[in-house]
Amino acid sequence: HIIIPLVHMIESKKEKTKEKIVMKTSVIGYPRIGRDRELKFMVERYFRNEVSKETLQETARELRRVHWEAQASAGVDYIPSGDFSFYDQVLDTAISLGIIPQRFKALNLNALDTTFAMARGYQKQGFDVKALPMKKWFNTNYHYIVPEFEDDTEVSLNTEDFLAAFLEAKELSHITKPTLVGPYTFLSLAHYAGNKKLDDFLEATVDVYIEKLRLLAQAGAEWIAFEEPALVLDLNQSQIERFERIYKRLLAQKAGTKVLLQTYFGDIRDVYEKAGALPFDGLGLDFVEGSQTQQLIEQKGFPKGKICFAGVINGKNIWKNDYKKTLDVLEALPANTVISTSCSLQHVPYSLKSETELDAKILDHFAFAEEKLAELNALKGISALGQPLQSPELQKNQVCFNEARCVENKAVRDAVDALTEESFVRRPAFFEREQIQKHALALPFLPTTTIGSFPQTAEVKKERARFKKGELSSDEYRKRYRERIQDCVKTQEEMGLDVLVHGEFERNDMVEFFGERLAGFLFTKKAWVQSYGTRCVKPPIVWGDIDRPHPMTVDDIVYAQSLTKKPMKGMLTGPVTILNWSFPREDVDLKTSAWQIALAIRDEVLDLEAAGIKIIQIDEAALREKLPLRKQEWQSHYLDWAIPAFRLVHSGVKAKTQIHTHMCYSEFSDIIREIDAMDADVITFEASRSNLELLDVLQRSGFKTAVGPGVYDIHSPRIPSTEEIENVIEAILAKMDGDKVWVNPDCGLKTRNTAETTPSLTNMVSAANKVREKY
Ligand code: GLN
Ligand code: ZN
Repeated sequence: HIIIPLVHMIESKKEKTKEKIVMKTSVIGYPRIGRDRELKFMVERYFRNEVSKETLQETARELRRVHWEAQASAGVDYIPSGDFSFYDQVLDTAISLGIIPQRFKALNLNALDTTFAMARGYQKQGFDVKALPMKKWFNTNYHYIVPEFEDDTEVSLNTEDFLAAFLEAKELSHITKPTLVGPYTFLSLAHYAGNKKLDDFLEATVDVYIEKLRLLAQAGAEWIAFEEPALVLDLNQSQIERFERIYKRLLAQKAGTKVLLQTYFGDIRDVYEKAGALPFDGLGLDFVEGSQTQQLIEQKGFPKGKICFAGVINGKNIWKNDYKKTLDVLEALPANTVISTSCSLQHVPYSLKSETELDAKILDHFAFAEEKLAELNALKGISALGQPLQSPELQKNQVCFNEARCVENKAVRDAVDALTEESFVRRPAFFEREQIQKHALALPFLPTTTIGSFPQTAEVKKERARFKKGELSSDEYRKRYRERIQDCVKTQEEMGLDVLVHGEFERNDMVEFFGERLAGFLFTKKAWVQSYGTRCVKPPIVWGDIDRPHPMTVDDIVYAQSLTKKPMKGMLTGPVTILNWSFPREDVDLKTSAWQIALAIRDEVLDLEAAGIKIIQIDEAALREKLPLRKQEWQSHYLDWAIPAFRLVHSGVKAKTQIHTHMCYSEFSDIIREIDAMDADVITFEASRSNLELLDVLQRSGFKTAVGPGVYDIHSPRIPSTEEIENVIEAILAKMDGDKVWVNPDCGLKTRNTAETTPSLTNMVSAANKVREKY
């Protein structure tokens, strides 16, 4: 029997004190963009034809060398290879398995350029092929390219980058642990464009993985990791069987290497025992996000003969590891456990060494990728000691957790404590407000508006950069962007829009802008994290209690309102989005930070209202993003505080003040009730791409909030004609009560240029006018 019962576990714990084995350490993946985003810049230069493929490869090779070197010199025992990618590891996997749709094969490009064509689309030499879609990688802000199987796709070994990477490292005398996106996860994430489905490709796919195993074994790999994060999702019976089927077949051909089943982003409660019964040599489990990992081991034991790769160093957040807590976790595990990161370190920034502007006392609390390597090594050292608790290194580490990190903001704490159920309820109720607002605002049928930002032209960005460098005084900077507000208001009036915006010219980013104005956030210089391809983001850090020392937007919005008789929307980012796009605290729960931010934004809402602003939009672009991976946890771990956070922001306004919100996606049919429960008066969202299917869902669920389903796609440079938009509006009206419909683009216009937005919006307004005439 493979599973050791609990009694034996406890026994083995006792034995451990006798035979101390030095624990080894492992990294799942390392950031690949480079300390100074070298890879990003070089790849972008390659896109612009400024450098050759050889130069690009040279940069990549050098980055890989530096990354292996960093890990080796930090004493990491299991260093990954194959975690590098020019764009995305899922896409690379598709290429290596020959899963390339015909339209990309027809381009006749080499493997690297095919990769880029699939990622970005290809419009050259008479070809016009759209990029493959991109999706969020589980609950991270990283996006992968969705592989596409066609009925005639023949899965076969196409490229051998995984082998080349292993050999390249070997040449540098590192025997690495090759890591592959596992077949179960890969097949689950792919899209099946034809009649054939996943299981039709399963055997062929596994065959290629067997071939990869064989090649790696031959080349001298001792351990090979299969990354299977899809196992932490809710699995049904047939998915569980599929997992078993894949690995029974694969592991029968191990070819002499050891195989690690590497999971992360949660626990594998649905397959823990099954995985234990399969002939894996190691199980990589997540002790950070896996809320049941410890419990699974306690209750079911750890499978005998396997090595536990314990993911205890958080690969997603930037706080120092609490060694004492980690040692407690390790203490309960078998003696030969490997100390590991909880997931790939690609989700954290590079190195604290680049943060020259933050105080050393502050930096002392953080660990980016490089520092996490040192943590692994420190834990290895401490756990090998007879009396770990006496270790000076541990004691030094504990100072960070025992001493108050920052001064608590008592007023904010008290304000959160004082919240009652009433604080989250806006009165009067929706339908009464709806009537009052109809009167107060007197908007036409099918009111037209935009989502907020207008084009961020090179000029706008240049002025902000000059201001940040101190080359423009704040008065001069404000004078300039206010001229832009004037132009923007004038254009909107000329176009005949009904509810205007100020254009958001003063904002770099919808989260950073507010973070910079709120107390409690920290900003870094180079803490970049890859979001997709060559795009990186630099999330702010929630450092302490959050508070709004001064109004943040009121002057500018009041100024914009003074330029027009039409209603000017106040434009804010909501608390859930601000939190989701930051590195959160670990010493308080997410709910506490979300509610603190909500109270700060609430003050801004009330100030805008007091200053005469009649419509206020609170964007929640990222609301769905951190929805837990397991459905069971949606409510208790997330929605139960996230939806109230939004309600808190606007519950204090008068009945006649209209609250809008905006979301960037339309995949919310499964949380439709919660979105309605945010109790906004109007919600705008992306819909043009998803053929308005969501409207049926809205109708069926009796959605009360008025809606502005985007009538055209701003993510493309195309200018929609009046007729086209008219048809979209008609299609909407066929499914919805016209009194509840708004007409607007599907997102902010900041990434577009004026030559595109002016005609598009003009056409949108005339389309609304035409439809109005008919009704
Ligand atoms: N108000 C923001 C804008 O228009 C919303 C951006 C977003 O949804 N991501 O830019
Ligand atoms: Zn949007």
